[in-house]
Amino acid sequence: MIFKISDNSAYLQFPHLAAFREVRHAVFLKLGGYSKGHFAGLNIGHQTSDSALIIKQNQRLAAKVLGSEKIIKINQVHGSEYLIWPDDFSSEKKRRSTLSADALITRKNRHDLLIQTADCQAVMLFDKSKKVVANIHAGWKGSIQNIIGKIIFVMQNRFSTRPADLLAGIGPSLGPCCAEFINYQKEIPRSYWLYKNNENCFNFWAISRSQLEQAGVLPYNIINSRICTKCNSKLFYSFRGANLTGRFASIIGLRLSNEKTAKSHNFME
Ligand SMILES: [Zn+2]
Repeated sequence: MIFKISDNSAYLQFPHLAAFREVRHAVFLKLGGYSKGHFAGLNIGHQTSDSALIIKQNQRLAAKVLGSEKIIKINQVHGSEYLIWPDDFSSEKKRRSTLSADALITRKNRHDLLIQTADCQAVMLFDKSKKVVANIHAGWKGSIQNIIGKIIFVMQNRFSTRPADLLAGIGPSLGPCCAEFINYQKEIPRSYWLYKNNENCFNFWAISRSQLEQAGVLPYNIINSRICTKCNSKLFYSFRGANLTGRFASIIGLRLSNEKTAKSHNFME
């Protein structure tokens, strides 16, 4: 991952996505931002009990750092529904309210897709040929519903995406070191038990990689950040680290080819 710092914030980028000028993306660390107390840092979790005003300030900061004209957000509900921006937000009422879904897809420039997480995965997709992006919230519930496979199927149908043209990034999330499921026999379907170790910890990174590959994404086009949020809870919000916590932002969108890139300092590549 590429680490960048900017005004009062820090973020990571997937090297294969960063190589394309027409993509704008970032996984924001919780460092910086305006939130205090339990939510201290750059909390963009609009479904948390942090001050709505401060969350807005944090979202504005993230948008400014990235150069986004507009950030599209949803109420994430651990399902497998998706929304296409702007098609599925056609009426004024829909555009003004926050709709519920767990994935966003768009081919519109400068309107960027936000997924907020604290242990769940944000999985970013970029179709380098058709110029379409998707951002997926894959918690364990979304994972066992194969939301990743579903979104790739939708991209194939709606945008003629060829899976071989997709670049995928699996963001910081609960690693196999910490994804313990004591009640897995009730919660996780048997077909996923092969991803469990002797400590009842599941490897959801491997599950996502396998779902991406099953949908036709080429192995070398998948980058897993391999950063466990619980092990790194000083850098990322982690629900398993502390129940009352914020959510960090994963944002992806399309940039016009003549647009200036965001101003930031490359700290380490
Ligand atoms: Zn861990």
